[in-house]
Amino acid sequence: MYLYNSLSHKKELFVPNDPSLVKMYTCGPTVYHYAHIGNLRTYIMEDILEKSLRYMGYPVKRVMNITDVGHLASDADTGEDKMVKGAKREHKSVMDVAKFYTDAFFADCDKLNIKRPDVVEPATNCIDNYIHMVKTLLEKGSAYLAGGNVYFDTSTLEKYYVFNDHDEEDLAVGVREGVEEDTNKRNKNDFVLWFTKSKFEDQALKWDSPWGVGYPGWHIECSCISMKHLGEYLDIHAGGIDNAFPHHTNEIAQSESYLGHKWCNYWFHVHHLNNESGKMSKSKGEFLTVSLLEEKGYDPMAYRLFCLQSHYRRNLVFSWENLDNAAVAYDKLIAKIAALKPEGEEVEQDAFDKLKERFMGALNGDLNTSLAVTAVYDVLKAKCSDATKVAALRDFDQVLSLNLLEAAEKLRKKNAEEEAANADPEIDALVAARTEAKKAKNFAEADRIRDELKARGIEIIDTPQGAKWRKV
Ligand code: AMP
Ligand code: ZN
Repeated sequence: MYLYNSLSHKKELFVPNDPSLVKMYTCGPTVYHYAHIGNLRTYIMEDILEKSLRYMGYPVKRVMNITDVGHLASDADTGEDKMVKGAKREHKSVMDVAKFYTDAFFADCDKLNIKRPDVVEPATNCIDNYIHMVKTLLEKGSAYLAGGNVYFDTSTLEKYYVFNDHDEEDLAVGVREGVEEDTNKRNKNDFVLWFTKSKFEDQALKWDSPWGVGYPGWHIECSCISMKHLGEYLDIHAGGIDNAFPHHTNEIAQSESYLGHKWCNYWFHVHHLNNESGKMSKSKGEFLTVSLLEEKGYDPMAYRLFCLQSHYRRNLVFSWENLDNAAVAYDKLIAKIAALKPEGEEVEQDAFDKLKERFMGALNGDLNTSLAVTAVYDVLKAKCSDATKVAALRDFDQVLSLNLLEAAEKLRKKNAEEEAANADPEIDALVAARTEAKKAKNFAEADRIRDELKARGIEIIDTPQGAKWRKV
């Protein structure tokens, strides 16, 4: 499988350290508010990556953190802790806010068929791990104490900006205008490993440490949680593109200084969902959630399809019109699948293999999900038995997770129920009598029956499968 690696700035053949277990880490949500559909684009594409690896035959262990402390309003180390902000907004405790939005996040993931990672670890569970790493970094001379906080010293590194092919604009995301520089820092890019002094003294959660009572920085959480569950060598680390700097850059700096060797081989970054006025973000106030899409009548699967129709390394523009198009495409796709009649047919292995090859080719080429969706339409157009088509769709949906067969089955049932609810033997008999009259060339009688039905509010529709009727 070829994947674009942000570290080498090119597409590379994916070769895990140990093919018997691919180790994958993905940055989790900061649980101070609902996830917006932009956040969820990132989680959908990470889900596709994980499922593609499994589909290719690799066992995968995937770990994700839940950020419930330390993520400040700016991705750099300034501003108030987002969790404290959330707790104030809702007049609840930080832990109550964390629980509520963690549950809400996984409920959204369920609606979008995003699989839960094998390990989900709240950041507040791992305080001892952070203290151990910070201690080691201090001992190694990679960190220093200043003004009560512990900082990572970026001047000890040969290269700090590892992801330097990103746009200036993306690199600037974490640094807000009007934020004062922290005068304790020796170098501009140094970042906090452990806070004991911040401008915000009302930090809700604090722990004892060798440097005083305080709390961890956001970046160290992901390094430690990853190492706790996946060890010293990581295959893939994923997140949204805004995480590349400073978050992932800082993760690499501290992890590799701590370990003394390379930490992670592949970095997978999902580009942003933008609305017409720019990047979708929670700090701008209004944002779209899955529940809101549902309230407006959209099936979450339409949003998943919308995301899959574009490549993860391109920004995706959200508009209601674009979502409507995806919703119509999804309904049409499901209707076509519902019309398949595989009963009593054989799966034609050669035809199945050819269809699968096309689908695999799409995933192998840097997770080209729009081509993978095209491969679904190719199945429907293919010259092979419906049983082969159903088998291929079932196979592809292990990765796409669009509920292709389940939604088609539901639609079939709904249509059958509607037909049954509308059944009327008397009208059926009249329609049959009209058909007979037409056959016998008794057109006067056929017209009379049609007029009688019309007067009763029934319209006859002649179709290739025979005459049908509906109430008008
Ligand atoms: P957060 O909960 O803010 O820590 O973000 C969760 C994930 O969503 C991170 O991986 C972010 O990089 C990602 N993310 C944030 N905004 C967007 C966006 N507009 N489009 C796609 N991903 C995003
Ligand atoms: Zn992270």
